[in-house]
Amino acid sequence: MMRTVSIFGATGSVGRSTIDLIARNPDDFRILALAGNNDVDGLAQMARDVGAQVAVTANPANYGALKAALVGSGVEAAAGEQALVDAAQMGADWTMASIVGCAGLKPTMAALKAGRTVALANKESLVSAGGLMMDAARRSGATLLPVDSEHNAIFQCLAGSNLDDVARITLTASGGPFRTCTRAEMAAMTPAQAVAHPNWSMGAKISVDSATMMNKGLELIEAAHLFPVGLDRIEILVHPQSVIHSMVEYRDRSTLAQLGSPDMRIPIAHALAWPQRMATPCQPLDLARIGRLDFEAPDEERFPALRLARAAAAQGGATPAVMNAANEVAVAAFLNGAIGFLDIAMIVEDVLNRYNAPVPTAIDDILAADAQARAMAGHVMERLTA
Ligand code: NAD
Ligand code: MG
Repeated sequence: MMRTVSIFGATGSVGRSTIDLIARNPDDFRILALAGNNDVDGLAQMARDVGAQVAVTANPANYGALKAALVGSGVEAAAGEQALVDAAQMGADWTMASIVGCAGLKPTMAALKAGRTVALANKESLVSAGGLMMDAARRSGATLLPVDSEHNAIFQCLAGSNLDDVARITLTASGGPFRTCTRAEMAAMTPAQAVAHPNWSMGAKISVDSATMMNKGLELIEAAHLFPVGLDRIEILVHPQSVIHSMVEYRDRSTLAQLGSPDMRIPIAHALAWPQRMATPCQPLDLARIGRLDFEAPDEERFPALRLARAAAAQGGATPAVMNAANEVAVAAFLNGAIGFLDIAMIVEDVLNRYNAPVPTAIDDILAADAQARAMAGHVMERLTA
């Protein structure tokens, strides 16, 4: 049966992996909206290739260029925040939320409020506004399918089980490119070294988050919203090979794990075909070749982001949104060469210590806390680099 699909963050790593799977099954899917930001030519080319109904750039300044690049294609061009929200409300059968950062919050909320099926890769929106997003999904009857490989693994291991039967969820972590580094070694690491992930090929922001292990901190908060078993029942385990994507232990002490090659097309395909399965071109898992699987406890001393995220999760309210916003600013500054690697977590901690945002009751409260935290992170950085 033909299904309609929209992709927000279509030009990124997850977006392109999603398009790859869809292009292999052209009779099964029809593309409604594709949304991106500044890669206008990439967006226009993709929209032409798949025959999208509309292409949206988040940045209004790109409208003219996008329109020009789509002349004669039959693809409609649109731009700006409201155009993103309108596209999310178009009524696609399946929506991929793969914008990076809190910028994905409004379109993702719009799709959830419209009761759609949303495949969620954009963890920052759930970290920032998890309570409100989960409420919106419950109220509208929307289906939220986790795409983050760990959360997709947990979703598969749960297979609809009663959460009361879950003793523990274990989020596995590769440990990132600096897993074995000392703090002194980390201090000298460049953006190029930080984005060179040992197992996964991903966008720059999440790659830096993997290096600081803030990615796992964000994923802890993401898991607590998606699978509300209580924070004390979610633990992190470093597993350098990234073969086991996460595990669920039940109260009878039976543990289920999901395994696979480190290729995002596997969890994306799971969400795309759900509740069925589809074939992928991904490598089969060859455990004889891999030979061994290693595990170690996470180190919160060398990776303070883990400690900050657990504390922010426990505090709740707008604190995770504040942490996320400060992290987004600090990661962008690190990627621009303005600050050092260890400054990232330091800036996040500084902002968390200074700013206690009011408890949010609406998305606008989250966006206000996000904006305030960004401004504070900017001030902290000015002092640091002065
Ligand atoms: P990416 O940087 O490769 O792509 C980001 C996408 O978001 C691009 O299409 C870009 O145009 C769009 N975008 C950026 N800023 C925007 C803005 N202000 N408004 C609208 N769109 C904007 O990132 P990615 O690696 O594909 O990651 C996307 C999301 O998926 C992130 O939240 C990330 O944490 C999550 N995720 C990614 C992976 C992965 O393997 N890449 C795995 C798990 C989760
Ligand atoms: Mg992940």
